[in-house]
Parts: sequence; C-alpha cells; structure tokens
Amino acid sequence: GTADLDCDVLVLGGGPGGYSAAFRAADLGLKVVLVERYATLGGVCLNVGCIPSKALLHVAAVMDEVGHLAAAGIEFGAPKVSVDGLRGHKEKVVGKLTGGLAAMAKMRKVTIVRGYGSFVGANALEVEETTGSAQDKTGGKKIVSFKKAIIAAGSQAVRLPFMPEDPRVVDSTGALALQGVPKRMLILGGGIIGLEMGTVYSTLGARLDVVEMLDGLMQGADRDLVKIWQKMNAKRFDNIMLKTKTVGAQATPEGIKVMFAAAEEGGTTPEPQTYDLVLQAVGRTPNGKKIAADKAGVAVTDRGFINVDIQMRTNVPHIFAIGDIVGQPMLAHKAVHEAHVAAEVIAGELQGNQELASSAFNARVIPSVAYTDPEVAWVGLTEDQAKAQGIKVKKGLFPWSASGRAIANGRDEGVTKLLFDDSPEAHGHGKILGGGIVGTHAGDMIGEIALAIEMGADAVDIGKTIHPHPTLGESIGMAAEIAHGSCTDVP
Ligand code: FAD
Repeated sequence: GTADLDCDVLVLGGGPGGYSAAFRAADLGLKVVLVERYATLGGVCLNVGCIPSKALLHVAAVMDEVGHLAAAGIEFGAPKVSVDGLRGHKEKVVGKLTGGLAAMAKMRKVTIVRGYGSFVGANALEVEETTGSAQDKTGGKKIVSFKKAIIAAGSQAVRLPFMPEDPRVVDSTGALALQGVPKRMLILGGGIIGLEMGTVYSTLGARLDVVEMLDGLMQGADRDLVKIWQKMNAKRFDNIMLKTKTVGAQATPEGIKVMFAAAEEGGTTPEPQTYDLVLQAVGRTPNGKKIAADKAGVAVTDRGFINVDIQMRTNVPHIFAIGDIVGQPMLAHKAVHEAHVAAEVIAGELQGNQELASSAFNARVIPSVAYTDPEVAWVGLTEDQAKAQGIKVKKGLFPWSASGRAIANGRDEGVTKLLFDDSPEAHGHGKILGGGIVGTHAGDMIGEIALAIEMGADAVDIGKTIHPHPTLGESIGMAAEIAHGSCTDVP
C-alpha cells in the first residue's frame, strides 16, 4: 500500500498507558510502533504529573520535617530557597526517568514515531511530524498502517472559560514549571492535584486560599481522614471556601482578581480576592475528540471519553483504548494495568494464544493517594459510600497516638481505618470492603489494604498477620483487631 511504516500494533500516545502497552506487546513478540507528539516518552505522569510533583513534594516534606525537629531539641536556620535549584532538581529527576524509558524502548526495538497522530482509516494513522519541545508541526507526514491499535492519548487540564490568558493563571503544568513563589495563591479546585501543588507552594512561602464547589476537600476520601488532614494543614490556608463557585476573574496590575458565588441557594458569597497566582485544578478532560477517531469508526462520548469493555476493546474490535482516555479514575497505575491487558489480548489474538487472548481488566479496587503532608490514601468503599449503598459495616479505627513508631517519629496525628462487611450473611466474618489512612507514608502502606480486598481477607486474616514492630504498617493489623473486637489495649 502507501504506508511509510507498518506494524502489528500501533500505540497512540507515550504516557504510562502507551509505553506500558508498547513494551508488553514488544515483549510478547509483536512489531510495535509508538506515536508520541512530544520529544520524551512518559506522558503527563513522568513529564508534568506524578513524578515532578513528587520530586517537589519530597523536598517540601523534608523542609517541614526539619521544622518539627525544634521540638526534639534540634534547630536549623531559616531555609534559603533557590527556586532555580529546586526546578533543576525536579528536571533532573524527570530526565532520569524519561531517559530510562527511551533506552527501554530501544532495547525492545519499539519504533518511536515522533509526531501528532490522527486516524485516517480503520487500519491507518497519519502522523504529522512535530519539532522542538512543543508540538509544533513541521509539515512532514507519515502514514503508519497497523493490524491492531491501542489508543492511549490521555487527558489535559480543564480551563475555565472566563479565566484570563495571563502568566499568573496556570494549570498543574504551569505550577510545576515553578516560575517563582507567589505571596498569595488561589487553588481552584480542592482535589488531589490542587492540594499537592498547594502543599509545595505553601512550604516555599505562599499563603493559600482554596475554593471548592462541593462540601469538602479531597472528594472520594473518607471524611474522618480529611478532617485530620485539614486540621494539620490549617496553617497553610487563609481561607478554605467550600460550596463556593468561581464565577469570574480579571487580570489587574495588582494580580488576578477572582469573583466567587455561593454554590447553593442561601449560601454565603465570599468577597472578591486578588492573587499573585491562580492554579486551575478543576479536573482533566480526555483527548478523545482530537485524534479523528471517527475515521477509524471508534465511538467517542460527548465528553471525549472512549468506552471500552473489560478487555479494553472499543466498539471497533481490533482497536483498543486505555488510560485516562477511557475514564475515571485518571491514575497512572490504572493505565499501566489496562495497558498490559490490551497488549496481551492483542498478542493472543494475533498469535492464536487462547490464554493471552482471554486477558481482562478485573481489578476489584484501585487505590488513590494524595501525596500531601500528611498523606491521605484510600481504597475500596468509604464509610459514606457503604452507607449510601445500604451496606452494614463494622469499622476498626486505629489512632496513631497509640503507635510507638508514630510517636517516635513525632507524627502521631494519623489514623488507620478499615471497614468490614457486617451484613447478617457475613455471620461476623465479613470481608474487608475498604480502608483509608491519613498519616506520613500512607501511600506506601495502602497497597496492603488493596491486597487484602483483592484476596477477600476478613478482620482475623489481617489482625493475625504479624506486622513488624515498630512500624506504621502495624496500624493496619491493629485496626483489623479493633474491628474484630479482639484488641483491648488501645484508647
Ligand atoms: P498521558 O499520560 O496523558 O499520556 C498521553 C500521551 O499521549 C501524552 O504523552 C501525549 O503527548 C500523547 N498524545 C496525545 N494525543 C496525541 C496525538 N494525537 N498524537 C501523538 N501523541 C499524542 N497519577 C497517579 O497515579 N499518581 C500520581 O501521583 C499522579 N499525580 C499527578 C499529578 C499531576 C499534576 C497530574 C496532572 C496528574 C497526575 N496523575 C497521577 C495522573 C497521571 O498523570 C495520569 O493518570 C496518567 O499520566 C495517564 O496516563 P495515560 O497514558 O493515559 O495518558
């Protein structure tokens, strides 16, 4: 035909979904072409998401921790912050990881085509060559023909239509670029991304306001945990505006003036405020409408998502989709697991391997983590969700004020909370339905609760599992014992 390149499987997008799919497919012996518009692999997560945010959050947490040492008799001087130095550190971290990906792609003989991809048929993609660090098109074009395709084109930040075009209005990418430290900063949207970036900027010296339409920060997390987070972080905020909409904004010489309104009738409307920096963190929108999916016959929803079945297959049987573009939760670890499923199904079908061809995404739960200070991590049902679904639960709540390790760390504000099925059919041996942790290192511990849910563990299974002492992870065993009623030595 007229194709410049052909392959078994075309992967559109080089983020955690795309590179994971490409690598698995190549490992399974397929000829893979990966199309990415930017110069580096890694997508949002490695370049402008998970990794750079954690590089900055780590530094912020250490800075805060050093402050706490005064209580232990050790005092340091005020920190000297070099924004350039910190930005350089972040860029080095990102470069190490994206460089590693490039090497892994080469090792696996994955062909990377640099450019902007759009479907031109059910078995062909046109790639418009891009250049520089941006996605500027050079005019060069290539056609890649494929037997099967995996769409992993990801998502991008939502922009409020009334926000002025101004360097003082940024999304998460702009905030991570770290152009300086503002005096007053507005976090627009009280979700994980906004609060993580807020944590970094406030530790560096910014005063924060946060505005959220709903009635609480960190929607999705258990309210018992969020309450503790909020108490520990109160000092960062001048103003936490809940049930409040942002209705307008205007660039002035003094800053960005932002107008608010009560989200509910009868609510209070805060006065307009002027900020040195406004971070828009009101959600992300999938890139489904930008890839000419219709030319391949792939259906895209009004909001830009691509629906798939549990094998990650779109309405077109030989085209698959994974990651942020297929729906919530928009998380890298979800994208990676979906990627492996799509690659395996494709390899199985092309090679007549029944076992691979029957691969499916059937995770019971997907954990979420806010890498703030303290961290908040949760998985499975929350107490409110169980209540809303009419499920009777038994809870075990272990306060870290009873954890030797947390006290030794000088950070005993945490809580570990587990929920078990307490319906009559469970006969007192109900399985774990969900769990959450607020406290330092919560994100590193939530995997154990996810495993317990996947394995169908009950409170005895978890409580009788010997956890090392003294660790924060012990709190999971203790919470299970409390739920089971076999723990009496805790306040
Ligand atoms: P993406 O990472 O969005 O990758 C899509 C890729 O496709 C991009 O590289 C894009 O350039 C490319 N592309 C799109 N269209 C085309 C086209 N037409 N042609 C060529 N290339 C194209 N998740 C976590 O699990 N943990 C975290 O701690 C975390 N922190 C985050 C922090 C921030 C600030 C943000 C914004 C996100 C964070 N996320 C986190 C979410 C995570 O980044 C995403 O869930 C993940 O990147 C999704 O992977 P993906 O492969 O679906 O898409």
